[in-house]
Amino acid sequence: MILVTGSAGRIGSALVAALLARGERVRGFDLRSNGLVHSEYSEVVGAFEAPGAARAAVKDTEAVFHLGAFMSWLAADTDTLFRANVEGTRHLLEAMQAQGVARLIFASSGEVYPENAPEFQPVTEDHPTRPRSQYGLTKLLGEELVAFYSRAYELKTTILRFSHTQNARELLDQNSFFSGPRFFLQSRIRQQETFGNAAAVRALKAVDDGNEALVLARNENGRAFKMHITDTRDMVVGLLVAYESQATIGETYNLGATEPVAFDLALPMMAQATGLPLRVVDLTGAGVFYETSNRKFRDATGFVPQWPFERMIAEATKTWMTRRKS
Ligand code: NAD
Repeated sequence: MILVTGSAGRIGSALVAALLARGERVRGFDLRSNGLVHSEYSEVVGAFEAPGAARAAVKDTEAVFHLGAFMSWLAADTDTLFRANVEGTRHLLEAMQAQGVARLIFASSGEVYPENAPEFQPVTEDHPTRPRSQYGLTKLLGEELVAFYSRAYELKTTILRFSHTQNARELLDQNSFFSGPRFFLQSRIRQQETFGNAAAVRALKAVDDGNEALVLARNENGRAFKMHITDTRDMVVGLLVAYESQATIGETYNLGATEPVAFDLALPMMAQATGLPLRVVDLTGAGVFYETSNRKFRDATGFVPQWPFERMIAEATKTWMTRRKS
């Protein structure tokens, strides 16, 4: 049996489905049920940081995909971040060690790097890890815990530093946690108000005429944002490939789309697909502008992502049209 933590989440639920489709027995572990009913699927609903829950989740498994994590960039959430991502990971590793479960695939994040101020690009696994968010810090501490348990107890671990990951249909969804504020003007205003970022709110409101619009974010010098956006389906394939390969044991990899998304190319494409107006906003600061290399993982495993951004947008547009018609 294989344990998938974060089984109610975006990537975890997709991985559960993929493992079941391959005939595996799967157990999920999450704060929430993912609602799946399948003869080969069971769940532990509970918190990673609750030792009893972690022990029950790990029991009788042969491998663990630790994908569950709390994701927030709000200062008020710092305690929860550390409880879920650091204490929670430690409890899971303790339970694995105590029950002799050796194989672990750990979902880390590109935020272990100083993504928005990298020393060199593309960012490879050799880039210094200097997170600039509490969330990134908890993922790095998670990596350290995994490395410690690997050394001390000979766990067979693989660390995957995920790029930003979305379901394609989320890309054109105002209400999506990530894509709403990233691409839709009004969602971004609401997000920046929550962050208490007055300068950004002012700049964004200056181009808001009250009609629904997309936003092309640029930095203070007019440089459009650039980052990786990976389709969940590619991440699932990457996770399975990592699990199957002996070569990945003891290694750390960047995992994500091969090409970054240049927002000055992507946003006009999205505006054309939706018919929404596009507002351009220059925000104070250096902005988001990075490229990460997945070459080490591709070379080790033969992984080839199948969902470049254009393909994701084509699918997102179909969902957008259906939603508008209903
Ligand atoms: P998600 O938020 O959709 O899923 C995470 C799941 O973890 C949720 O279902 C949540 O209920 C569960 N969870 C949170 N705290 C918990 C706790 N204390 N105990 C038990 N369950 C808890 O996230 P996702 O997009 O599927 O991401 C999966 C993994 O990939 C996470 O580890 C995340 O840090 C990492 N990651 C994601 C992205 C991305 O852009 N999606 C980028 C880099 C790294």
